[in-house]
Amino acid sequence: MPIKTYDTISGLRGELSARRSAGAGAGVGFVPTMGALHEGHISLVRRAAAENDITVVSIFLNPLQFDESADLDSYPKTLEADIRLCEAAGTDLVFCPSVREIYPDGASTRIEMDGPTDVLCGRSRPRHFSGVLTVVGKLFHIVEPDAAYFGEKDAQQLAVIRKMVRDLNMNVNIVGCPTVREADGLAMSSRNVHLNADERKASVCLFRALTAALEKLGDAAGHGAPEDDSEWARLTADVTGSARAVLDAEPLARTEYVELLDAETLAPLGGSSRAALCAIAARIGDTRLIDNMRFSLNE
Ligand code: AMP
Repeated sequence: MPIKTYDTISGLRGELSARRSAGAGAGVGFVPTMGALHEGHISLVRRAAAENDITVVSIFLNPLQFDESADLDSYPKTLEADIRLCEAAGTDLVFCPSVREIYPDGASTRIEMDGPTDVLCGRSRPRHFSGVLTVVGKLFHIVEPDAAYFGEKDAQQLAVIRKMVRDLNMNVNIVGCPTVREADGLAMSSRNVHLNADERKASVCLFRALTAALEKLGDAAGHGAPEDDSEWARLTADVTGSARAVLDAEPLARTEYVELLDAETLAPLGGSSRAALCAIAARIGDTRLIDNMRFSLNE
């Protein structure tokens, strides 16, 4: 069947209910995006299409999750090309609503979370995760997916969405998908188009910093697990220090944070941590980039 696009909630719901009654056994897979799609988004769409009968992609530039209006205004918009990419990757339905359709006048309910929304990106972007959770919660109610696909590239977003689903008993399986990178290691991002040629070259420092951090963590893990909180803190400082040194050596980079945390809870690492997340945010010129890598502590 050819791809169909809907910009109203009632139109999308009507189509989904008709297809469900026609017997979509393996369910509905959903990929929420903000558009300006690249190979990273498309890897999520392909996975959803492979695992579900119906694949829905939303393309909605969510104003609620932008703390800086300049970032929202300059965000790339490529709707026609996005729809073609979705179609080629096996999407059945694209939902591309207006801001008014999602937030009609007077809508003032928000989803807020304490804890993992306050660390990493939450420090410099205090309204961001409430904006993300509110729109993802609304989209889950609209689409009612069986499974929803998110990138590990946004590790904190994935962790807080998993927590929201648990905390609010939402009936959806959250699937995390690996980060897709350019050949030199830069994580694909819609914001990469803002990098000029020099900044593009410099931007590989995030990947190199994470690689250095994981090497250090691997060496340390080879010498046995830390025995108490102060040893975990020393390990954390060593590992983040080696990443910071790589970032500091790049003149075009301004580091916002380099952190090593428990990958599930985003709390400091400790004896019960099963995996570590090393996460970086840095500005290259005016463009804010984030990246992360995960390291299993169980092997
Ligand atoms: P966005 O349009 O930036 O909100 O991203 C939509 C989804 O695509 C999110 O789940 C992101 O984590 C995911 N995504 C973005 N970039 C990548 C990437 N390089 N690799 C894998 N997933 C990605």
